[in-house]
Amino acid sequence: MTRCLDCGSPRTADQCPSCGLTSAAAEVMFRRRFLKRTGVFLAGSLAFPYVSQIYPPLDLDLMLVVFGGIFFAALTMAVILDRRARNHQELEVLKHAYSGCILLPWILAAMLLVNGRLDFSKDITYHAATVDGRYNMPGIVRGARRLFVNSWREGQKTERLAVNADDYDRFKPGDQVNVGVKPGALGIPWYFGVYRR
Ligand SMILES: [Zn+2]
Repeated sequence: MTRCLDCGSPRTADQCPSCGLTSAAAEVMFRRRFLKRTGVFLAGSLAFPYVSQIYPPLDLDLMLVVFGGIFFAALTMAVILDRRARNHQELEVLKHAYSGCILLPWILAAMLLVNGRLDFSKDITYHAATVDGRYNMPGIVRGARRLFVNSWREGQKTERLAVNADDYDRFKPGDQVNVGVKPGALGIPWYFGVYRR
Protein backbone atom coordinates (compact mmCIF):
# COMPACT_ATOMS: atom_id res chain seq x y z
CA MET A 1 0.00 0.00 0.00
CA THR A 2 1.28 3.45 -0.81
CA ARG A 3 0.36 6.70 0.84
CA CYS A 4 -0.48 10.05 -0.65
CA LEU A 5 2.72 12.13 -0.85
CA ASP A 6 0.81 15.23 0.11
CA CYS A 7 -1.51 14.30 2.98
CA GLY A 8 -0.22 10.85 3.92
CA SER A 9 -3.58 9.06 3.65
CA PRO A 10 -3.60 5.49 2.35
CA ARG A 11 -4.07 5.58 -1.37
CA THR A 12 -6.12 2.93 -3.15
CA ALA A 13 -6.55 4.63 -6.52
CA ASP A 14 -4.47 7.20 -8.37
CA GLN A 15 -6.64 9.94 -6.95
CA CYS A 16 -6.25 10.33 -3.18
CA PRO A 17 -9.62 9.67 -1.45
CA SER A 18 -8.74 12.18 1.25
CA CYS A 19 -7.32 15.29 -0.46
CA GLY A 20 -8.40 14.56 -4.02
CA LEU A 21 -4.94 14.98 -5.56
CA THR A 22 -3.66 12.59 -8.19
CA SER A 23 -0.29 11.00 -7.46
CA ALA A 24 1.42 13.40 -9.88
CA ALA A 25 -0.21 16.46 -8.30
CA ALA A 26 0.61 15.20 -4.81
CA GLU A 27 4.25 14.88 -5.83
CA VAL A 28 4.28 18.51 -7.01
CA MET A 29 2.75 19.65 -3.71
CA PHE A 30 5.21 17.55 -1.74
CA ARG A 31 8.17 19.00 -3.64
CA ARG A 32 6.99 22.56 -3.13
CA ARG A 33 6.75 22.05 0.64
CA PHE A 34 9.99 20.08 0.70
CA LEU A 35 11.90 22.93 -0.99
CA LYS A 36 10.44 25.49 1.39
CA ARG A 37 11.43 23.39 4.42
CA THR A 38 14.90 22.78 3.04
CA GLY A 39 15.29 26.56 2.58
CA VAL A 40 14.31 27.15 6.22
CA PHE A 41 16.79 24.50 7.31
CA LEU A 42 19.67 25.92 5.25
CA ALA A 43 18.99 29.46 6.46
CA GLY A 44 19.12 28.18 10.06
CA SER A 45 22.35 26.39 9.24
CA LEU A 46 23.87 29.77 8.40
CA ALA A 47 22.26 31.58 11.34
CA PHE A 48 23.58 29.19 13.97
CA PRO A 49 27.33 29.48 13.20
CA TYR A 50 26.85 33.23 12.78
CA VAL A 51 25.28 33.71 16.22
CA SER A 52 27.77 31.28 17.75
CA GLN A 53 30.59 33.68 16.83
CA ILE A 54 28.89 36.62 18.53
CA TYR A 55 28.02 34.84 21.79
CA PRO A 56 30.36 31.85 21.73
CA PRO A 57 29.72 29.25 24.44
CA LEU A 58 32.86 27.81 26.00
CA ASP A 59 31.94 24.43 24.57
CA LEU A 60 31.28 25.78 21.09
CA ASP A 61 33.29 23.11 19.30
CA LEU A 62 31.23 20.40 20.97
CA MET A 63 28.03 22.15 19.86
CA LEU A 64 29.40 22.46 16.34
CA VAL A 65 30.06 18.72 16.22
CA VAL A 66 26.47 18.03 17.29
CA PHE A 67 25.23 20.54 14.75
CA GLY A 68 27.38 18.96 12.03
CA GLY A 69 25.77 15.59 12.81
CA ILE A 70 22.27 17.07 12.49
CA PHE A 71 23.24 18.81 9.26
CA PHE A 72 24.56 15.70 7.53
CA ALA A 73 21.68 13.54 8.81
CA ALA A 74 19.19 16.06 7.39
CA LEU A 75 21.00 16.27 4.05
CA THR A 76 21.03 12.48 3.77
CA MET A 77 17.29 12.40 4.55
CA ALA A 78 16.67 15.09 1.93
CA VAL A 79 18.45 13.06 -0.74
CA ILE A 80 16.52 9.88 0.14
CA LEU A 81 13.21 11.78 0.32
CA ASP A 82 13.80 13.24 -3.11
CA ARG A 83 14.50 9.83 -4.60
CA ARG A 84 11.56 8.13 -2.92
CA ALA A 85 9.19 10.90 -3.99
CA ARG A 86 10.34 10.52 -7.57
CA ASN A 87 9.62 6.78 -7.39
CA HIS A 88 6.31 7.41 -5.55
CA GLN A 89 7.50 5.25 -2.65
CA GLU A 90 6.37 5.34 0.96
CA LEU A 91 8.06 8.20 2.84
CA GLU A 92 5.81 9.12 5.77
CA VAL A 93 8.25 8.28 8.58
CA LEU A 94 11.18 9.98 6.89
CA LYS A 95 9.04 13.01 6.07
CA HIS A 96 8.28 13.48 9.78
CA ALA A 97 11.88 12.89 10.81
CA TYR A 98 12.99 15.50 8.29
CA SER A 99 10.41 18.02 9.52
CA GLY A 100 11.77 17.48 13.01
CA CYS A 101 15.25 18.50 11.89
CA ILE A 102 14.17 21.67 10.09
CA LEU A 103 13.94 23.89 13.15
CA LEU A 104 16.88 22.45 15.09
CA PRO A 105 19.52 24.90 13.76
CA TRP A 106 17.12 27.77 14.51
CA ILE A 107 16.55 26.45 18.02
CA LEU A 108 20.32 26.24 18.61
CA ALA A 109 20.79 29.76 17.22
CA ALA A 110 17.95 31.18 19.34
CA MET A 111 19.36 29.47 22.42
CA LEU A 112 22.79 31.09 22.02
CA LEU A 113 21.25 34.45 21.15
CA VAL A 114 19.05 34.48 24.27
CA ASN A 115 21.90 33.14 26.40
CA GLY A 116 24.23 35.97 25.38
CA ARG A 117 21.96 38.89 24.50
CA LEU A 118 19.85 38.59 27.65
CA ASP A 119 22.82 38.02 29.95
CA PHE A 120 22.53 41.29 31.91
CA SER A 121 24.71 40.14 34.79
CA LYS A 122 27.73 42.30 35.52
CA ASP A 123 29.33 39.18 36.79
CA ILE A 124 32.29 38.53 34.49
CA THR A 125 34.79 36.01 35.81
CA TYR A 126 38.40 36.46 34.70
CA HIS A 127 40.57 33.40 34.43
CA ALA A 128 44.33 33.72 34.12
CA ALA A 129 45.65 31.58 31.29
CA THR A 130 48.49 31.23 28.84
CA VAL A 131 48.03 31.06 25.08
CA ASP A 132 49.45 27.84 23.71
CA GLY A 133 48.29 27.84 20.14
CA ARG A 134 45.84 29.13 17.62
CA TYR A 135 43.97 27.93 14.60
CA ASN A 136 42.28 29.62 11.69
CA MET A 137 39.88 27.95 9.30
CA PRO A 138 38.30 30.23 6.68
CA GLY A 139 34.59 29.44 6.35
CA ILE A 140 31.45 30.52 4.56
CA VAL A 141 29.82 32.33 7.45
CA ARG A 142 32.56 33.97 9.45
CA GLY A 143 35.25 31.36 9.50
CA ALA A 144 36.52 29.70 12.64
CA ARG A 145 39.32 31.35 14.59
CA ARG A 146 40.37 29.67 17.78
CA LEU A 147 42.82 30.72 20.43
CA PHE A 148 43.93 27.78 22.56
CA VAL A 149 44.64 28.52 26.20
CA ASN A 150 45.20 26.18 29.13
CA SER A 151 41.89 25.43 30.85
CA TRP A 152 40.79 26.45 34.35
CA ARG A 153 37.98 23.90 34.28
CA GLU A 154 38.41 20.60 35.98
CA GLY A 155 38.92 17.62 33.69
CA GLN A 156 39.60 19.86 30.73
CA LYS A 157 43.05 20.56 29.34
CA THR A 158 42.44 23.26 26.78
CA GLU A 159 39.90 25.99 26.14
CA ARG A 160 39.34 26.66 22.46
CA LEU A 161 38.18 30.28 22.45
CA ALA A 162 36.22 31.47 19.42
CA VAL A 163 37.95 34.84 18.94
CA ASN A 164 37.39 37.58 16.39
CA ALA A 165 40.01 38.55 13.78
CA ASP A 166 41.51 41.31 15.96
CA ASP A 167 42.06 39.09 18.97
CA TYR A 168 43.32 36.35 16.73
CA ASP A 169 46.05 38.63 15.37
CA ARG A 170 46.80 40.26 18.74
CA PHE A 171 47.91 37.14 20.60
CA LYS A 172 50.53 34.52 20.02
CA PRO A 173 51.64 31.40 21.87
CA GLY A 174 53.22 32.20 25.23
CA ASP A 175 51.14 35.35 25.89
CA GLN A 176 49.74 35.72 29.41
CA VAL A 177 46.04 36.57 29.22
CA ASN A 178 42.90 36.97 31.26
CA VAL A 179 39.84 35.28 29.79
CA GLY A 180 36.50 36.92 30.62
CA VAL A 181 33.59 34.49 30.95
CA LYS A 182 29.94 35.35 31.60
CA PRO A 183 27.44 32.92 33.14
CA GLY A 184 24.80 33.17 30.37
CA ALA A 185 21.08 33.90 30.74
CA LEU A 186 20.34 30.20 30.14
CA GLY A 187 23.26 29.01 32.24
CA ILE A 188 25.55 28.25 29.30
CA PRO A 189 28.90 29.94 30.17
CA TRP A 190 30.12 31.96 27.24
CA TYR A 191 33.38 33.57 26.38
CA PHE A 192 33.16 37.35 26.66
CA GLY A 193 36.67 38.59 25.85
CA VAL A 194 40.36 38.00 26.18
CA TYR A 195 42.75 40.60 27.62
CA ARG A 196 46.49 40.88 27.97
CA ARG A 197 47.70 40.43 31.54
ZN1 LIG B 1 -3.86 13.05 -0.20
